Amino acid sequence: MIQSIRGFRDILPGETELWQYIEKEAISVFSDFGFKEIRIPVMEKTELFARSIGEDTDIVEKEMYTFPDRKGDLLTLRPEATASVVRSYIQQKIYAADPAQKFYTIGPMFRRERPQKGRYRQFYQINAEIFGVAEANADALLIFMLMTLLKRLQVTDIEAHVNSLGCPECRPTFRNALIAFLSDRAEALCADCTRRMDKNPLRVLDCKVPGCREAATGAPAITDHLCTECADHFETLKASLEGLDVPFVVDKRLVRGLDYYTRSTFEILTGALGAQNAVAGGGRYDGLIKLLGGPDLPATGFAIGLDRLAELVPTKAESLVRHPDIYIAALGEKSLGLAFQWICTLALSSIRAETDYSGRSLKSQMKRADRLDAAYTLIVGEQEIENGAAVLRNMKTSDQQEISLENLPKTLADIIGA
Ligand code: ATP
Ligand code: MG
Repeated sequence: MIQSIRGFRDILPGETELWQYIEKEAISVFSDFGFKEIRIPVMEKTELFARSIGEDTDIVEKEMYTFPDRKGDLLTLRPEATASVVRSYIQQKIYAADPAQKFYTIGPMFRRERPQKGRYRQFYQINAEIFGVAEANADALLIFMLMTLLKRLQVTDIEAHVNSLGCPECRPTFRNALIAFLSDRAEALCADCTRRMDKNPLRVLDCKVPGCREAATGAPAITDHLCTECADHFETLKASLEGLDVPFVVDKRLVRGLDYYTRSTFEILTGALGAQNAVAGGGRYDGLIKLLGGPDLPATGFAIGLDRLAELVPTKAESLVRHPDIYIAALGEKSLGLAFQWICTLALSSIRAETDYSGRSLKSQMKRADRLDAAYTLIVGEQEIENGAAVLRNMKTSDQQEISLENLPKTLADIIGA
């Protein structure tokens, strides 16, 4: 027996209904906000991720599925979507007609992490990105849209955390202050943080190792080191969120794991998922389009973890499962043939009908109708064919009525559709 790969899982019927429901709501909300879908490849040249996410990040250092293809080109299964959306925006010159663009994309991401509840090696994200708008209102719109979706999905126990990461102008001052602070606590840091501390000390704030978290307590806040423009930008974001009645907390430790973030950064945290408490994360990445060879245009976006979101949505998948409208129990060759024709015709009127293909006993067919939770049953045997009529039974009310076999699909569509 060949098993699936560790950290890769099947999402089965019974769950997929919930996933479809979430995706449908997301598409509906995003489209109301003017976002258009973009579909990007699941594989890209390794260089794209190495350059955009940053060489000394967890993702690039240890989590990417990278391998040479048969010609020796280094390829990577995408660990996130933003880099690919940016690549497409540049490659397809989407910015030429109008730099201001809003995209969303839904699909699998791949990271070789330690699998556990809420953390998989293939997981799914719903991403939204706004390109070409530098103003903080674009960030506020993203957070508002995200919270709107979560509200529509009736997700509770969530909190929006926001912070600013400054810009290449003001971040160095903060970096130095942080390095000075951390140097006194260097022994307490994990090996990764020790190694990265000089190159990228902000990572320490993002590290999940308890010792590092403790060592970073009381660390300087980046918001105390912002330049005037970044400070104004952050003030506008907060004011806009207040104006939109979006509750949030300023979280000075929020830095996020990717290198390309500037200014606004945010995360939606929940108390309901234990250690895997981040449902969504995002922020501004004004330098990325240029870094990847495009024009110097700003950008901002977020990613929702769909696997984690599915755990939080209170709707039961069972309530979304579509049960058969009718089960046609067919007995005898002729009935089987007719029943088969009817179920195909009924599907064209969106009536979901089931039948048995092999002509099992009436008892076993009725058992199956019961198990499938069919709303109606119809028994058709030799006698019914001779009479040209059969009894339709409403399984909920137990009401029965005799209906003619002539034009049966039409009659059923009228009764069931009503
Ligand atoms: P975490 O801190 O939990 O590792 P992250 O900062 O690495 O998350 P992002 O890169 O910001 O995550 O991705 C956005 C969202 O994708 C996360 O908030 C989370 O919900 C989801 N996510 C990230 N990695 C995984 C994973 N391995 N399995 C399931 N969901 C994930
Ligand atoms: Mg991670």
